[in-house]
Amino acid sequence: MFDYERYKRQLLIDGWGTETQEKLQTSKVFIAGAGGLGCPVALNLTTAGVGNIRVCDADVVDISNLNRQFLHPEKNIGVEKTTSAVQTLSNLNSAVHFTTLTTKITEDNVDELVADADIILDCLDNFEARYALNACAVRQGIPLIHAAVWGLEGRVTVFTPPTTPCLSCIFPVASKQQETIPVLGTITCATGSMQAMEAIKYLGGMSPSLQNKMLIMDFSAMHFQTLEISKNRDCPICSHL
Ligand SMILES: [Zn+2]
Repeated sequence: MFDYERYKRQLLIDGWGTETQEKLQTSKVFIAGAGGLGCPVALNLTTAGVGNIRVCDADVVDISNLNRQFLHPEKNIGVEKTTSAVQTLSNLNSAVHFTTLTTKITEDNVDELVADADIILDCLDNFEARYALNACAVRQGIPLIHAAVWGLEGRVTVFTPPTTPCLSCIFPVASKQQETIPVLGTITCATGSMQAMEAIKYLGGMSPSLQNKMLIMDFSAMHFQTLEISKNRDCPICSHL
C-alpha cells in the first residue's frame, strides 16, 4: 500500500483514485538517458510514485550539462549520470526502487537492459541507440514514448506498435545531427514532462493521447500543434506486425 498522505493531492484528480496510484506503484519503467529529457522524466515519475525505475546512461556529468540536467549537482561533475541522478531521486522519494544501468544501449544489449519494463522512455540524443530501443520495443510489444528537442522546439509521440507507427516508420533514415544540439533547460523540462504525463496515463490505466500523433511545440512562439502520423507499410521494423 502506498503512503496516502504523500499522494493525496493527485488522488483528488478526477478519475485517479487509489487503483490508479496502486498501478503506478507496481509499474516498472525503463528510462533511456539521464540527460536533458531523462532528468524531468525521472523526476516526475519518481515524485508521482512510479514504483520501479531503471535509469540507463553511459556518460558522466559534465559542466555543460548543468544548464538543463537538473538532477545533477555541481559536485557530481565527473560522476556517472546514472549514479548522480539516482542519488537525487532517492532523496525525493525513498519508496521508489531504482536500478542504475551505466552502459551504452546497443542492438546486442537492449533486450537485456529493458527486460520486463512496462514502458520505455526514449530520452536519448542519438539515432543509433534510438533505433535499437525502437526495435526492442516493437519486438517485445512494449510501448515507447519518444521525444526530441532542438533549440526552442520539442516533439513527443507515443509508439504502441502494431496499432501505431514506430520510430522507423516516421524516420526511416537517421536525420543528420550536428554534434552539439542547441538546447535550453526550459525546453527539455517541458518536453520531458509531456513524456512523463503520457507514461503516467498509460501506467495508471488511462489512455495516452499521443498515439498516432506527434506533438510539436514551438516555444519561440508558444505555438503547439499535433500532427497525425501513420505507419509505413514497408517499415523494416514493424510492417510484419
Ligand atoms: Zn515501423
